[in-house]
Amino acid sequence: MRLSRYFLPILRETPKEAEIVSHRLMLRAGMIRQESAGIYAWLPLGLKVLNKVNAIVREEQNRSGAVELLMPTIQSADLWRESGRYDAYGKEMLRIQDRHEREMLFGPTNEEMVTEIFRGYVRSYKDLPLNLYHIQWKFRDEVRPRFGVMRSREFLMKDAYSFDLDQAGAVHSYNKMFVAYLRTFARMGLKAIPMRADTGPIGGNLSHEFIILASTGESEVFCHADYLDYDIPAADTDFDSVSGLQGIVDRWTSLYAATSEMHDEAAFEAIPADKKMSARGIEVGHIFYFGTKYSEPMGARVMGPDGQERDVHMGSYGIGPSRLIAAIIEASHDENGIVWPEAVAPFDVAILNLKAGDAGTDGACERLYRELSAAGRDVLYDDRDERPGGKFATADLIGVPWQVLIGPKGLADGKVELKRRATGEREHLSLDDVVARLS
Ligand code: ATP
Ligand code: MG
Ligand code: MG
Ligand code: MG
Repeated sequence: MRLSRYFLPILRETPKEAEIVSHRLMLRAGMIRQESAGIYAWLPLGLKVLNKVNAIVREEQNRSGAVELLMPTIQSADLWRESGRYDAYGKEMLRIQDRHEREMLFGPTNEEMVTEIFRGYVRSYKDLPLNLYHIQWKFRDEVRPRFGVMRSREFLMKDAYSFDLDQAGAVHSYNKMFVAYLRTFARMGLKAIPMRADTGPIGGNLSHEFIILASTGESEVFCHADYLDYDIPAADTDFDSVSGLQGIVDRWTSLYAATSEMHDEAAFEAIPADKKMSARGIEVGHIFYFGTKYSEPMGARVMGPDGQERDVHMGSYGIGPSRLIAAIIEASHDENGIVWPEAVAPFDVAILNLKAGDAGTDGACERLYRELSAAGRDVLYDDRDERPGGKFATADLIGVPWQVLIGPKGLADGKVELKRRATGEREHLSLDDVVARLS
């Protein structure tokens, strides 16, 4: 992408309304724009990151055996009356009437709808286990939308729903998501700790929240520090191995970790003093097992091997990709801007032309742009006729992991400068060496 033809509305001033660093940086870097309270447009740079985050979420969901579909954002109130949640959900639900005065709503979550789809097709235990997920916009009329996309009213959620014949099967499905979540967050450069959590309006009895420790987090959490150094399950983890997955989950739940709602002071006090962590955290994912809470009232039943019909056991599993982006920035930034982990960076490389219009410099930039693009790298080429200082500031602000600075001075010695955003390290290399390094 040539910056001269891109749409990157950088803000020079720090927006006053933004209280936390991720919100400030997302506005300044031209990633999002507020359209109403808690409702954001995703500008091109923000959308690029959102797509990268979604791709990782999707890969790990698929790896665990979940199957993607897409359910609508608008749902009928009658569906929610079947589960009894239409009245129970309260003011967070955005209720809508269509022209025929039918009651509709903008989905805050999809347990009812996915249960309705399931009961329309699945009749036998032979079709289980099944886990269906989608990545779709949700709306919750939060009392206090704030911190940008961290707590917005419209937000993106990956929500998965598992169906099993019995509790043992459902626990295995739960464990698959548990392991998939550990991998998902680690791939984004985050240390997410699974913590025992309250089930809230979703209901049920087994639940973990995945929490990123951050001083700006809205949750109060308590955990053992050793979780920060735990190994992440490998890509070749066998998701069909019941005992293998249970082993991973047992290890990841063996030490104390709980949100304030589930906090047990006595258990926390038993942690050695140097390992006790009482901190703030950001909830980036939440998994639930809730048995037959929806299948029973909604009649989602399958025939068991014994010929008896029974209600399926369900779980639901959410990740907030839009909130995750804010969480990644909270965890990875410096005084100059965002420092993207490579896996979610909007661009892999930025080429900074330090003297646009100079034939040699333009030629070297064009060549690098062409070769890195051909190698499959996502390249942002700052070809604008602007002072170098402004280009350095933009590249740092938007946090591209690698910057290549090209100007006539270096080229006279056959060199360009390669800068690593995360560490500020600089190297003087030939153009060929840069291509070899970054391809
Ligand atoms: P919170 O406690 O922050 O209100 P929640 O417990 O209500 O979140 P869940 O119902 O567990 O949220 O939804 C699953 C995931 O969706 C959350 O873990 C979070 O990542 C994301 N999410 C929920 N509400 C919001 C929001 N208002 N803005 C952005 N992401 C959200
Ligand atoms: Mg909430
Ligand atoms: Mg919560
Ligand atoms: Mg939650």
